[in-house]
Amino acid sequence: MGIPRDELRRLRNEIDIASLIERLAIPSKVRDGYLRFLCPVCSDFHTATNPRTNLARCFRCERNFNPIDLLIVERGWRFLDAVRFLQRLSPPGDRPRAHRSSRSEAHRPP
Ligand SMILES: [Zn+2]
Repeated sequence: MGIPRDELRRLRNEIDIASLIERLAIPSKVRDGYLRFLCPVCSDFHTATNPRTNLARCFRCERNFNPIDLLIVERGWRFLDAVRFLQRLSPPGDRPRAHRSSRSEAHRPP
């Protein structure tokens, strides 16, 4: 079995890399306007995250990590485990919630 290419792209784009770093409790700090994280490969802070590409980069390793890569290197998970974890954070078909109505709750019968 495989994960559809579109689904992988969705996960790489929709799972905010900075939030994921926070969620994984990877040490991080903001310097010069960039969220920098402790690289799980070389343990150096010579890193940055790019909100535009949603990638975390280590300048020392010269590597970019997307959310899937980050789980694989930080947790030591297999590719599919990383994908499933991200799918739980952002289930397929779960679109942005800005327009979700709370009407049904407000008009709950007594
Ligand atoms: Zn590194």
